[in-house]
Amino acid sequence: MNGKIKILDFTPEETRRVLENEGWVPYKCGQFLEWVYRKAVIDPNLMTDLSLDMREFARNRIDICLVETLAEKISADGSVKLLCGLHDGEAVEIVLIKHPGRNTLCLSTQAGCRYGCSFCASSKSGFSRNLSVGEIISQVVAAKRMFPAGRLNNIVYMGVGEPLDNFKNVAKSLDIITSKSGFNIGQRKITVSTCGIAPQIIKFADLGKQYELSVSLHAPSDETRNRIMPVNKKYPLRELMGACAYFYKKTKREITFEYVLLKDVNDSELDAENLAGLIKGLKSKVNVIPYNSSLCAEFAPPDKDAVKLFCDRLSRLMVKVTVRHSRGSDIGAACGQLRFFNKNTKTGHIGE
Ligand code: SAH
Repeated sequence: MNGKIKILDFTPEETRRVLENEGWVPYKCGQFLEWVYRKAVIDPNLMTDLSLDMREFARNRIDICLVETLAEKISADGSVKLLCGLHDGEAVEIVLIKHPGRNTLCLSTQAGCRYGCSFCASSKSGFSRNLSVGEIISQVVAAKRMFPAGRLNNIVYMGVGEPLDNFKNVAKSLDIITSKSGFNIGQRKITVSTCGIAPQIIKFADLGKQYELSVSLHAPSDETRNRIMPVNKKYPLRELMGACAYFYKKTKREITFEYVLLKDVNDSELDAENLAGLIKGLKSKVNVIPYNSSLCAEFAPPDKDAVKLFCDRLSRLMVKVTVRHSRGSDIGAACGQLRFFNKNTKTGHIGE
């Protein structure tokens, strides 16, 4: 810790107050905020409309970006994976996904994950800690810097970690991302994905915002879900679906249920029927994600026909269904492949 002010831990309004206390006039504070949030400029020397004194103050007293890009990999489909180093030697991966006319950041919220879904690489190195607000926001700044010509349109909280397990910091980061004097990205352009921590879904609904909620459902029965997602033992399907119903009642937002399709585990006709029955009556859609290989030897991806068959069955049962063709699988950047490296296990990461 270097004792500098970690400006990205603050909302833009809090930053204004900090700078005004240092004697900055309001419109200079506004210019500083523009450099950081609009232009993603993190080097005070380049903030040419600030006085030399202000630039020196910013250089000496303020830490702007709190993550350092340690490595970068580019997929054949144009997605980019970054390894973001944190101040204490931990590192998390994030992904920038380019679609025609739209750029998406998939960001991380924790160094590691405590939930241990058996098909996911993100918790294989255990759990170290929550990311701070500034560390989450720094990923957005890093992403904006990678899209100099275009805008950052969408943000998905689907990288390493369980966002609702780091609730306070995630909620504040959402405020900053959507704030007019922050990144000014619309609430509906942001998706938070959870493995199903029922009480936190209720808290999330109570924020009273328009964020999108994705729930990693992945199995239509407690028996199968207990086997592949340990979180289900604590919050079984009944409780989870109750929380989802509450979310819908409160926000009127359609919920997306993610469903990673695992060969011979959750892809049968009965699974499709049970899934349709489970979500019946809840305004929702199912996003089927064919399993991406992720250091988990016990699972295999379904073949193409099986994916189509499963989706057709759901459609016939009146379920709205889409298939997520994960991007960046050639560089280990697809769903479930992102990793966390703690100080002691930083081997084999994308830079090596
Ligand atoms: N912890 C949150 C955020 C992670 S989002 C959550 O569980 O929702 C990442 C999404 O990819 C989740 O739906 C996750 O279950 C899914 N996923 C994990 N491993 C995968 C794999 N090997 N193949 C496809 N999807 C996977």
